[in-house]
Amino acid sequence: MLDTLCINISNRLNTGILILDNDFNIIMWNRFLEVHANKKDNQVTGKSVFTVFPELPQKWFERKLSSVIQLKTQSFCGWEQRHHLFELSHSRPITTDSHFMAQNCTFLPVEVEGEVERICILIEDVTDVCHYQTQLNKALHELALSNRIDGLTQAFNRRHWEECLAKEFSRARRHNHELALVMLDLDQFKLLNDNFGHQGGDKVLVDTAKSINDLLRLGDIFGRYGGEEFAVILPSTDLVGAEEVAERIRQTIAKSTVDYQGRSISVTVSIGVAIIDEQDSRYEDLIRNADLALYRAKAMGRNRVCLAEETLDKKTIVA
Ligand code: GH3
Ligand code: MG
Ligand code: MG
Repeated sequence: MLDTLCINISNRLNTGILILDNDFNIIMWNRFLEVHANKKDNQVTGKSVFTVFPELPQKWFERKLSSVIQLKTQSFCGWEQRHHLFELSHSRPITTDSHFMAQNCTFLPVEVEGEVERICILIEDVTDVCHYQTQLNKALHELALSNRIDGLTQAFNRRHWEECLAKEFSRARRHNHELALVMLDLDQFKLLNDNFGHQGGDKVLVDTAKSINDLLRLGDIFGRYGGEEFAVILPSTDLVGAEEVAERIRQTIAKSTVDYQGRSISVTVSIGVAIIDEQDSRYEDLIRNADLALYRAKAMGRNRVCLAEETLDKKTIVA
């Protein structure tokens, strides 16, 4: 009587109930599982759970259930740990990334006279939760990215780039590593805007940023410092290396042209290079030194690379 009552109730629940013996054979399951596994109760009773669900990670599953039996305590496996254990269909009217139901599974020891004789597994359908959480994570990730990226050129924006410089600067100081900074400014850009319009100027900014980015190594940090000014942090790079990178960038941009509405636009860059110095106590000093070198490149006629004075002194001494 009580058994029939319990079975009736369990068949109305919106949670899967799966009861196994200590050898992992199925004793019973409820209607929820019949529907979502598309198998009748009498097709599965007496069979090993691994035969009915060959997708189960057998070793992991056996270990999990053995500890439930031995310790006589319940255990849990949430969808964030494993999206699902059992390949069950879900019936949600939403598109999800997975064909199968996301699950929270609880493993309960069923004791008879002090001994665990059965294990009851409760399977909760959390497809909705999983779906919305995944969507939320995706949106947060995109938001974090857009907070760091300049919308036009896809380089890091000034704020994020400066945060990176601050970190790289203190890392270089701490470990006594080298660090170089390259500041670039497009030449006569006002004139270029006047000749080709603001949108033509924008196209030049986009293509130039891509050209620069393509020339860099993985660890280099490229940002848009201002309107038509870019900057590159070169970790663990000495003066010779940084000068080479700067010269390669200058030449590549000078040689290439930007296609815009059937016209070819030529542009050049002036570049200032500085490396970390014992006297630089703050990362802003490194920016100031590179900026001064950039000014000199402009004053000397543009389309050239200049090294910061402090850096130059060092080079002279070394030479
Ligand atoms: P110089 O060789 O001395 O650097 O001359 P310049 O004309 O490049 O320098 P200036 O600083 O006088 O002008 C920079 C111009 O860049 C002015 C500004 O309108 C333009 N600019 C800044 N941001 C953008 C942008 O996002 N798009 C476009 N198209 N132009 C921009
Ligand atoms: Mg400028
Ligand atoms: Mg300029």
